[in-house]
Amino acid sequence: MSTSYDAVVVGCGPAGSVAAAELAKAGLSVLALERYRFPRFRVGESLTVSAGDLVREWGLEAEMARLDFPPKSGVKVIGRSARTEFFVEVARPTWQVRRAEFDELLLNRAIEAGVEHRWGSVKRVTQQGDRVVGVGFRPEGRKSLVDVRAEVVIDATGHSALMSRQGVAGPRQMGTFDRQIATFTQFTHAVRDPGAMGNNTFIFYGSKYHWAWFIPVSSTVTSVGVVLPTTTHRSVASKPEEVLAWGLEHVNPDLWRRVQGLTPSEPVRVIRNYSYRIDPFVGDGWLCVGDAHRFPDPIFSFGVSFAMTEARAAAEAVVRARWTGDAQEPFERYAAYCSRGQDAAMDLIQYFWKFPAFFSFQTRGSTRGDMIQLLGGDCFGTQENGVLDMMRKSLREVDAPRPAAR
Ligand SMILES: Cc1cc2nc3c(=O)[nH]c(=O)nc-3n(C[C@H](O)[C@H](O)[C@H](O)COP(=O)(O)OP(=O)(O)OC[C@H]3O[C@@H](n4cnc5c(N)ncnc54)[C@H](O)[C@@H]3O)c2cc1C
Repeated sequence: MSTSYDAVVVGCGPAGSVAAAELAKAGLSVLALERYRFPRFRVGESLTVSAGDLVREWGLEAEMARLDFPPKSGVKVIGRSARTEFFVEVARPTWQVRRAEFDELLLNRAIEAGVEHRWGSVKRVTQQGDRVVGVGFRPEGRKSLVDVRAEVVIDATGHSALMSRQGVAGPRQMGTFDRQIATFTQFTHAVRDPGAMGNNTFIFYGSKYHWAWFIPVSSTVTSVGVVLPTTTHRSVASKPEEVLAWGLEHVNPDLWRRVQGLTPSEPVRVIRNYSYRIDPFVGDGWLCVGDAHRFPDPIFSFGVSFAMTEARAAAEAVVRARWTGDAQEPFERYAAYCSRGQDAAMDLIQYFWKFPAFFSFQTRGSTRGDMIQLLGGDCFGTQENGVLDMMRKSLREVDAPRPAAR
């Protein structure tokens, strides 16, 4: 292992592997560091179309079939008490994945593209003045740190948010959906819809901010999670298994019908306070990508796709900075690009909870195309999206201070 690279990427989830691979393809020397040996569990199994595009571009379709990852053709949303539902198809085909194997697949492709990779944990970000010049890395099984220098350090550490924790990036600010807790597991032979519809993501909702996901991750295994406000979570039970059991039975009767009597085939896991943002998230010699700077909410399965989209944009910014000798403009442009996509996702999710009936209505008729685009994860573009503009207007109106009563 050398001690000097053009780029060091910390974290090898989708953000890290994609950024590292794209930089190596552009001819840079890249070191990618990951603290947990793969395969390792990660939540986030449903991909939107932008992730599917990258899978195809990287030529991974045969691997997706070999790994028995279900092809996904859309999302079905089942409303309160299972009295209403709507389905939104994807514009281009995509997949449901088990992250343990999917992330390993991406990392292996990055290594094939020329990325050097090591297992171990980054413990320190090294600065000279305000400029980031490298990291202190503890290789797996060793006690001492190795000092690695780089022209640029990419933070792709997910919710660990290395740069923020080290005081390089801004502090973590809790997001709009921070008082939500997800409790989840997997079931074998949960009841799916017949045919291709049975491979799709189903979102069930009950009362406001009470919802559940149902994501087939192989021919037989389904990932199921229940998301509850902290207050409900605390009031129903203390053990995760009991909270999950309560949620499966009470969030939506159609969900209960599909899992009743089944025993989880995985441990029951809990994630709380997952909604946050970090700002600033770029600076002299460093960038944050994916969850390392922002995660709004999991309801529309944007996380992995956004991480990949941002990773490609980050790699472009780094390459452009090398060509021009000016990092500031490309890094700032990258930051604006990420914020545009993440803000659009946040507004879409807020509109869903504030106006569920209108949201469902927008998936039909003339606005359907715009909804397919947004729910497919195409949130970063500059092209007009009429339905998003209309949603923002409605959100501003409900948030506007009301005139004082006479
Ligand atoms: C409840 C819930 C459900 C979700 N469901 C979905 C879904 O259905 N679809 C979807 O697309 N997304 C979903 N997500 C979001 C998704 O999990 C994330 O957005 C996605 O994993 C982000 O990818 P990433 O590469 O940025 O980070 P991660 O996947 O978290 O990868 C970060 C990597 O960095 C490594 N790392 C951390 N610190 C260090 C260090 N100091 N040194 C070295 N390595 C380090 C970690 O071990 C990890 O491997 C969900 C999220 C939640 C909370």
